[in-house]
Amino acid sequence: MSYYDYIIIGSGIAGLYTALLAKEAGSVLVLTKGSIEDCNTRYAQGGIAAPIGGNDSPELHLQDTIDAGDGLCDLEAVRILVTEAPDRIADLIKFGVPFDTLDGEIALTREAAHSVPRIIHAGGDATGEHIEVTLSRRVRMSSIKVLEYCLATQIILEAGKVKGVRALDCRTGLVEEYECRFVIIATGGAGRLFKYTTNSEVATGDGIVLAFQAGAEITDMEFFQFHPTAVRLPGVPPFLISEAVRGEGGILRNVEGYQFMSDYTPEAELAPRDVVARSILYEMRKTGSDRVFLDVTHIPARRVATRFPHIYRFCLDHGLDITKGLIPVAPAAHYLMGGVKVNTWGETNIDGLFAAGETACTGVHGANRLASNSLLEVVVFSKRIVEKTRSTANADQSAITTQDDCYHLEERKKLKAVPRLNLSNLESLLWDNVGIVRSAEGLSRAVDVLANWQALLPQSTDRPSYELNNMVLNARLMAEAALLRQESRGAHFRTDFPKSSSDWQKHIVFKVNDCT
Ligand SMILES: Cc1cc2nc3c(=O)[nH]c(=O)nc-3n(C[C@H](O)[C@H](O)[C@H](O)COP(=O)(O)OP(=O)(O)OC[C@H]3O[C@@H](n4cnc5c(N)ncnc54)[C@H](O)[C@@H]3O)c2cc1C
Repeated sequence: MSYYDYIIIGSGIAGLYTALLAKEAGSVLVLTKGSIEDCNTRYAQGGIAAPIGGNDSPELHLQDTIDAGDGLCDLEAVRILVTEAPDRIADLIKFGVPFDTLDGEIALTREAAHSVPRIIHAGGDATGEHIEVTLSRRVRMSSIKVLEYCLATQIILEAGKVKGVRALDCRTGLVEEYECRFVIIATGGAGRLFKYTTNSEVATGDGIVLAFQAGAEITDMEFFQFHPTAVRLPGVPPFLISEAVRGEGGILRNVEGYQFMSDYTPEAELAPRDVVARSILYEMRKTGSDRVFLDVTHIPARRVATRFPHIYRFCLDHGLDITKGLIPVAPAAHYLMGGVKVNTWGETNIDGLFAAGETACTGVHGANRLASNSLLEVVVFSKRIVEKTRSTANADQSAITTQDDCYHLEERKKLKAVPRLNLSNLESLLWDNVGIVRSAEGLSRAVDVLANWQALLPQSTDRPSYELNNMVLNARLMAEAALLRQESRGAHFRTDFPKSSSDWQKHIVFKVNDCT
């Protein structure tokens, strides 16, 4: 059995950036279930938030993050995020990420709910692609061992401590075990749970299941962000139209051409994502349409094509010149705020087990993520994971302890008729019942169906069956948490509890073992 100091599961920004730092401290194995560049990271458009502008400050960035998080951000984690941001951006530049510049300075743009321009970008709207390509090239040139098409299926523990990882070679079907000192789960989010999603096909929540089954705490699963604007064209997967397009002056119109956002909120197009997504949903219902329009025709054509080359090209390839015509858009599932509960050093409650990136819940996003804070969260907290594993000074610092409401997954009533378990039924169940607007009725239905599916899950044998089983468990955790939280807060909106309640200013944690 091969032995490594670090095993990192995933090759998005979290996996690759952590691997590049960890190789300075020991041997590193990266396991990734597709090719190295299969991930959500490469689709990130808008950029990375960092308080580096002349009229900005960490304090202002902190305030915007906390406002978006709607009472559930971890203040210490947010302070770390905004304070360490400039150094981590400098690291990315050192690695070679070609951020856009203006007059010799890093160019900054503004996105919704940021009070000043603070979004750094690369290739206009191709930030994620530039990051992924730069980091993967560096990893390939380094001593880091990468196993592609290798799906992690289990965290191996010995006496309550991490011992290694079991993985399936998706090409040969063989199962291998790899031993290590530290495992870092960097498997990304779970956006594939929903019928309409901006996420890549890898986003099936595998890391949450790996951690949960190992006994780690999973938290904030009810907080899932829906992006307000993804292209809605028949037969075309929802393609994200970055927030930055509204930041640059893009206007939302309903199918009758009416500019509706200021009817819902004075912040209009620049309101937080959940507000814009719900407003669009209501407007679609009001007009009996499955879409609204994003209008950039008033912005100079050259500006649109140079600032958003990726979006411009994508739409043009689908027969739409956005400098002349309106873009049909609708909300789509986008980002999981919750995940594997970690402290500010990326540690879970299991010795030797860490989580980084979208699969982790550091607490910086609270109930709703501020746009472009996720890539920043990755680099800030991945760096801290490696620092923690290297540092003996920090070795006695206790890992996380649960202070929030802790739950198990209980048995549910057996349904007489259960829909067939397949990907399409799962995605529709979640979109219809655990989506942008929720209620006890829909959530109870989802929970019951999911629990019945869970009881019947077949043994996983290959990547699709592992992923489907993982998605059912993720869906169950999400629906259960959403049903428990009898209020509306951040991205979690319930028609039967439309206001937030101080009783719920706490986190919901799920654990497979004892909650003590
Ligand atoms: C369209 C889009 C636009 C976005 N725009 C922005 C933006 O502008 N700014 C911003 O801050 N954020 C943005 N985000 C969010 C941000 O891109 C992600 O949160 C971030 O890239 C997640 O990085 P990650 O490394 O955690 O996960 P990912 O990049 O998704 O990588 C996960 C990796 O884990 C691997 N993996 C998963 N399961 C397993 C398993 N069982 N075994 C082995 N490997 C596994 C996957 O194959 C993949 O390599 C955007 C997201 C999307 C989808």
